[in-house]
Amino acid sequence: MNVKENYQQIRSNIEEICQRCGRNPDDIHIIAVTKYVSVDRANAALEAGVIHIGENRDEGLNMKHEELGEKATWHFIGSLQTRKVKQIIEKVDYIHSLDRLSLAIEINKRATKPIKCFIQVNVSGEESKHGISPGQVAQFVDELKQFEFIEIVGLMTMAPFTEDTKIIRTCFRKLKELQLEIQALSQLNAPCNELSMGMSNDYKIAIEEGATFIRIGTALVGNESRGV
Ligand SMILES: *Cc1c(COP(=O)(O)O)cnc(C)c1O
Repeated sequence: MNVKENYQQIRSNIEEICQRCGRNPDDIHIIAVTKYVSVDRANAALEAGVIHIGENRDEGLNMKHEELGEKATWHFIGSLQTRKVKQIIEKVDYIHSLDRLSLAIEINKRATKPIKCFIQVNVSGEESKHGISPGQVAQFVDELKQFEFIEIVGLMTMAPFTEDTKIIRTCFRKLKELQLEIQALSQLNAPCNELSMGMSNDYKIAIEEGATFIRIGTALVGNESRGV
């Protein structure tokens, strides 16, 4: 496991894909998902040039933030229990999992500065997946108008766990279409310029379909619980 080599490989893949589909590589931000690795690996990612760190649990976020705080931009990417908001809110720059009004109320109550939020959308409709259904997003964005500390920077989704790239691509494409619908509302609280989609196994497809934040764990920093 060489984090620096992995990072350079991912960067070069991004350049190649962007060239092929006429996108600017500067528009693609890599989030190193460090939930399966130590602080040392997270630090190695930062030293390799990574700017964004993502964690899906409050414990992991707090542990890494304590050591590396100022050196990174912090993303909370996992499903977020309302009662955990106060434990992370001062540390995060982005929350990728806004999926219900009660969570928005709590974020707005605890935040002392605007929080960049992604609305998590369950595009695939799988029951096991978090997120609101595509048809409810516009109404949710409207309800979020009342919260001064919530800025809807974009939409987030997780593709189904499958080898079938057509299913994955369709999922990402639908999130892009939904983004255009939300942007067309021109709501001040929801510029919605970003798309958080793509992980180790599907980030290339995600970039082809318009991702601006890709969340990469295993392929970048490895997974120490699996010995890689
Ligand atoms: C773990 C996780 C990732 C990264 O997964 P890998 O397959 O290891 O790249 C991305 N997004 C979310 C929401 C995750 O929980």
